[in-house]
Amino acid sequence: MRLRIAPAALTAFAAAIFRAAGSSAMEASTVAEHLVEANLVGHDSHGAIRIAKYVDWVRRGELVPNASAAVALDKGALALVDGAFGYGQVVGRLAMNEAAARARAHGFALVAIRNSGHLGRIGAWAEQLAEAGLVSVHFVNTSGYGILVAPHGGSDRRLSANPVAAGAPRPGRAPLILDIATSMIAEGKIQVARNKGEALPAGAALDWRGRPTIDPAAFYGPPPGAILPFGGHKGSGLSFFCEILAGALTGGLASNPESATAGRLVNNMLSLVVDPGAFWARDAFAEDLARLVDWTTGSPPLEPGGEVLLPGELEARTRAERTAQGVPFDPESWRSIVATAESLAVSAPATRTEE
Ligand code: NAD
Repeated sequence: MRLRIAPAALTAFAAAIFRAAGSSAMEASTVAEHLVEANLVGHDSHGAIRIAKYVDWVRRGELVPNASAAVALDKGALALVDGAFGYGQVVGRLAMNEAAARARAHGFALVAIRNSGHLGRIGAWAEQLAEAGLVSVHFVNTSGYGILVAPHGGSDRRLSANPVAAGAPRPGRAPLILDIATSMIAEGKIQVARNKGEALPAGAALDWRGRPTIDPAAFYGPPPGAILPFGGHKGSGLSFFCEILAGALTGGLASNPESATAGRLVNNMLSLVVDPGAFWARDAFAEDLARLVDWTTGSPPLEPGGEVLLPGELEARTRAERTAQGVPFDPESWRSIVATAESLAVSAPATRTEE
């Protein structure tokens, strides 16, 4: 059994919760829209399921409502935004606006975010820039709180899930958006599997002894297990460079339990943003991209009835389906959101039950 809720009702509900937890109306709706958008594109691990955690962090003083994120270093094409431990959804939007303006002025921009709350679905930042007509790539780490992933060859938690995202605009078409954690599975998806009573995919996680497990409970412990990096040494190496680029390079710090900010969830991000007209004509870029898309998707399907999907295509299809049908929730995930709402005297909207 699952529940469905209309996106607008879910957004209003989430915004009311954040408002009750101390955010301004603007901040509350920015965070709510970002989370519901993650649900709409199918990344439930980074959607409304996060509400309970965010409110907990606010209560513990680890996440600061209405924080004053600001540009802390301005060198033209290079800038640093300090998030002041505020909601990442607000910090990210501010930083991407800065990045877009700088990329338009200089042809490219290198913008770092440090000391931000959870930046959510990282593909959202690539989408914001693609909508502004810009190509981008983003590297993210946490500075300690999110240590979950074993390095290739290791058996316990040393690295974060460290996502990488990239986006490219296409005139008149949906942008191309790659958005992946460097771990085999995002921790939020383990949470969702636990709530649904489902097993994890094989080869994604280890128990506390370093043995492969498909049981979400064996991952959480205690004692806790670890997630494996995707693609063995390749994902592990990419994750390691997320630590360098987003953490060590920006002053946001690489994952380490001894980090000054390791007691709260801090996301750091390095974004490289390029105007597609920087090296040659924008039209030439668009034409070459269209050729690449046709060439790649023209590969004969491996399986009968199969197809080659473009980065971001699955999300665009899911968005269309869920916008029409509503956002689905398993009863346990919905209960946790409603419990948080009730603790703040916010009443839950109606849902539709599906078998
Ligand atoms: P995933 O494994 O679902 O991969 C998603 C990407 O792969 C998308 O770009 C999608 O278009 C593409 N894709 C999926 N199936 C495809 C197919 N069959 N053919 C071609 N392309 C395909 O995502 P994930 O690694 O589980 O990450 C989930 C989310 O978690 C992301 O939004 C990520 O940003 C987020 N995340 C955030 C943090 C954080 O610290 N803020 C940490 C980890 C993950």
